[in-house]
Amino acid sequence: MIPYGRQSVDQADIDAVVEVLTSDWLTQGPTLERFEAALAERCEAGFAVAVCNATAALHIACLAAGLGQNDWLWTSPNTFLASANCGRYCGADVDFVDIDPLTWNLDTDALARKLEAAESTGTLPKVLVAVAFSGQSCDMRAIGELARRYGFVVIEDASHAVGAHYAGRPVGCGEFADMTVFSFHPVKIVTTGEGGMVLTNRPELAEHLRRLRSHGMTRDPAQMDEPSHGPWYYQQVELGFNYRMTDMQAALGLSQLNKLDGFLARRRELVARYQTLLADLPLVLPTAQAEAESAWHLYVVRLHTDVLPVSHRQVFEGLRAAGIGVNVHYIPVHLQPYYRDLGFKPGDFPESEAYYAQAISLPLYPAMTDAQQDYVVDQLGRLLCKTSPAVS
Ligand SMILES: *Cc1c(COP(=O)(O)O)cnc(C)c1O
Repeated sequence: MIPYGRQSVDQADIDAVVEVLTSDWLTQGPTLERFEAALAERCEAGFAVAVCNATAALHIACLAAGLGQNDWLWTSPNTFLASANCGRYCGADVDFVDIDPLTWNLDTDALARKLEAAESTGTLPKVLVAVAFSGQSCDMRAIGELARRYGFVVIEDASHAVGAHYAGRPVGCGEFADMTVFSFHPVKIVTTGEGGMVLTNRPELAEHLRRLRSHGMTRDPAQMDEPSHGPWYYQQVELGFNYRMTDMQAALGLSQLNKLDGFLARRRELVARYQTLLADLPLVLPTAQAEAESAWHLYVVRLHTDVLPVSHRQVFEGLRAAGIGVNVHYIPVHLQPYYRDLGFKPGDFPESEAYYAQAISLPLYPAMTDAQQDYVVDQLGRLLCKTSPAVS
């Protein structure tokens, strides 16, 4: 099976992990600090806080933003569950903003209209989770302007976008987002097995994130409500978690960062080939967001199901039967039973639902060969054109 995504782990990665395994530190320690510093530098961010996965990163980012009961978090329905669930972890209400039919990211015109309506009813969001779907940022310039006008915190869920750029600067630099979250799950751009990171330029947020990562504990006398009892002393000043990343994972992440440019280059090369090879098929290919340079975590195509003799499901199953591990990103989050129980229903976000009925993620990962890609294109072409002439 050709998978839709796969990590690339080499001997240098293995050596880096083994070196930590035989050192004094296994969990959060000096290697983690080096990993944080390396990613902060690469992304031109002031601070980086590594945690055990991006879901935990989103959770503590929301808490650091002050999100709680009687607050609203808004996000895109076209995302992984975690972008919305993080609001629910904080006791907040979650709502969605429909997607742009071409970039498949949150539609900033729809966002502007929804904010205007929310202002009149006193239900403005405290947090917007702007998901960089497939690796390309949303219209962050417009989102930044709306954030200043309406006073919400912007968390960029850049789980797909390690190494991406927006407006000529690295995603994570904090020009248009208060906090940026990365995921290091194996299918993402670089991996630590499980892992996540929050980047920010605001020192008070970074400090709060670090405390939330480790039980809400502090050893800083300035944060304590009485004089220290001695060198062993710590205080728990709020409710936090054990969301630490291990030094073994950080060693893998650091080693993977050395290869990030190569990974991105190969992803771009494969995408350029897909764009050419698929141009004559009855498909909608990805559209670039102005100012965004994608990290290309996913390569999604939309089937012109209205003119095809085959259904979305038939194409999907045909590709799987041919040994091609296609996937669908994403089932609109508001249609999950958990969110339907909260009052959402089919028809609420029609662009995301229309997209879902047509979208297929084709294989894309650095180790994919041209021959594998040619096979995917050939099989897809056969399925789409089997019983009808090509439409274009
Ligand atoms: C993968 C992903 C997450 C969650 O990442 P984990 O590291 O697996 O917790 C969150 N948001 C998006 C958009 C993702 O793709």
